[in-house]
Amino acid sequence: MKFGGTSVGDVAAFERVYGIVSSQLKRHPVVVVSAMTKVTDALLAAFETAKKGEFAEAFASLEPHFERHVAVSKTFIADGAPNAFNAELDFARDELSDLLMRTSRRSLPLQMLKDAIVSYGEQLSSRLLAEVLKSKGVNARQVDSRRLIVTDDEYGAATPIIDETNELVRLELEPLIAAGEVPIMGGFIAASRGGETTTLGRGGSDYSAALVAAALHAGVLQIWTDVTGVMTCDPRICTDARTIPTLSYEEAAELAYFGAKVLHPKTIKPAVDNAIPVRVCNTFEPNEVGTMVLDESGEAPNKIKSIAHKKNITILRITSARMLGSYGFMSAVFQVFDRYRTVIDVISTSEVSIALTLDTTTEIDKIVGELQRLGDVEVEPGYGVVCVVGEGLRASTGLASKIFSTIDDVNIALVSHGASAVNLTFVVKEEVVADVIKKLHGEFF
Ligand code: ADP
Ligand code: ASP
Ligand code: MG
Repeated sequence: MKFGGTSVGDVAAFERVYGIVSSQLKRHPVVVVSAMTKVTDALLAAFETAKKGEFAEAFASLEPHFERHVAVSKTFIADGAPNAFNAELDFARDELSDLLMRTSRRSLPLQMLKDAIVSYGEQLSSRLLAEVLKSKGVNARQVDSRRLIVTDDEYGAATPIIDETNELVRLELEPLIAAGEVPIMGGFIAASRGGETTTLGRGGSDYSAALVAAALHAGVLQIWTDVTGVMTCDPRICTDARTIPTLSYEEAAELAYFGAKVLHPKTIKPAVDNAIPVRVCNTFEPNEVGTMVLDESGEAPNKIKSIAHKKNITILRITSARMLGSYGFMSAVFQVFDRYRTVIDVISTSEVSIALTLDTTTEIDKIVGELQRLGDVEVEPGYGVVCVVGEGLRASTGLASKIFSTIDDVNIALVSHGASAVNLTFVVKEEVVADVIKKLHGEFF
C-alpha cells in the first residue's frame, strides 16, 4: 500500500490512512509512504537557499514543516507515552542543520548533499506514520528503506539494483510479515552500495512501492492518492474527467511516461514482470475501486482511454543534407544524447532530418554544440506533448483523422504514431495544450 504526499498531509489524512491500513490487516500489508505534502519541495528549496550561502535562512525555512509533523504526533500520541518520532525529529534537525551548512560551504559533492537533505521528508513521514499506527494498536514497525533498496550512485535519479534489492527486501520484511508486523517504509529514498543516500526521482515513491511489491510477490500493489484512479485526462484540466476502470500495463506505462502524474513512469515494469495487479485509488474515497491496471484491459468503445500531457518541452531539429543516402546519421545523433545522459521523448525522422523532443535541457548547449558537427540544428523551446492512449489505437481506421480534425485550428509541430500500438503522440505550442486536451476530451468522452 503506497500513500502519496496528500494522503499524509495533515492530522485528518493520518486518520484516514489508519482507517485504510487497519481495514486490510488480514492481507498482510507493507506500507510505503511519501513525505508529507509540500515537504520535498521545501527541502529542495532549503538546499537551493543554502547553496547561495544563506544557511540560517535555509534551516529556518524548514521549521513550519517540522511543526506540521509535531502537530500530527501530538494529536495521536499522549505526552509521556513512548514516541520514537520525537527522537527522530531531533536527529533530523541536527542532521539537516549539518547538511545545509555543508551545502553552503560546498564541502561535499552537491548532488550527494541534495539527496541526503531531501531524504528527510520520507524518513520523517515513515517514522511518524509508524508511531501513529502503533498508538492506535496496529503492530507497525518503521523500516529504513535505505537498508533495503540498493541503487547505483546516480544521485537524484538512481537506478535500483534489482537482485540485491529483492534479496534485502525479502530478508528484512518476510520475517516481520510472518510475525504479523506491518512494515512502514519511506518511498523515494534508497542507498548506493557504498551506503550513501540516493533518491529515485520526483514522484518516485510509487516506484519504491512497486519494487517492494515485486520482491515480495505481493497479491496487489495499491497506490493511494488524492484522485479516484487514473482518469480520462488530468482532472486539473477538465473537471469532467472520469475514472478509467481498467487499463493494460502498456496503456498505463504510456500514460505515466507522457505526463499522467498519478503514476510514476517506472512503477509499471516491476508490476508487469511479476504479474502484480496495480490498483490506483483514492484515500478520500476508500470504498471506490478506482483503476485496476492489469495484463490486458480490452478496448474502449471509442478506442481512446485517456489523454496525457507534459509541458515545458523543447524540440530539437537536426538536418543534414550531406547524410542523404548514407548510414550512420541516426547513430551519430543518438551517441551525442547518450554522452550527455539526456533522454529523448518523442522522435520523428525523414531521410536527412530528425526532430525530437526533450524534457530535460540541462546539457542542451553542449548537445547542440556537438550536433552542429553533423548538420544544422534548430532549438525550439515552449512546447507541450499530448499523448492519446488506447488499446487498438494503431489498428483503428479513421481515428487519427478524427483526432486531428477535432483540433484542426491548432498547428502540430511533430507527430509520432505507430511505434506503440496503444498511443498517438503529438507536439503543440505549450499555450494551447490545455485547450487541445479540453477539445479532445469533449469529443471522445
Ligand atoms: P501522490 O502525492 O499521491 O503521489 P500525485 O500528485 O503525484 O499524487 O498524483 C496525483 C495527481 O496526478 C492528481 O491530483 C492529478 O492532478 C494528477 N493527474 C495527472 N493526470 C492524471 C490522470 N490522467 N488521472 C488522474 N490524475 C492525474
Ligand atoms: N516525496 C517525493 C516527491 O515529492 C516522492 C513522492 O512523493 O513520490 O517527489
Ligand atoms: Mg506521485
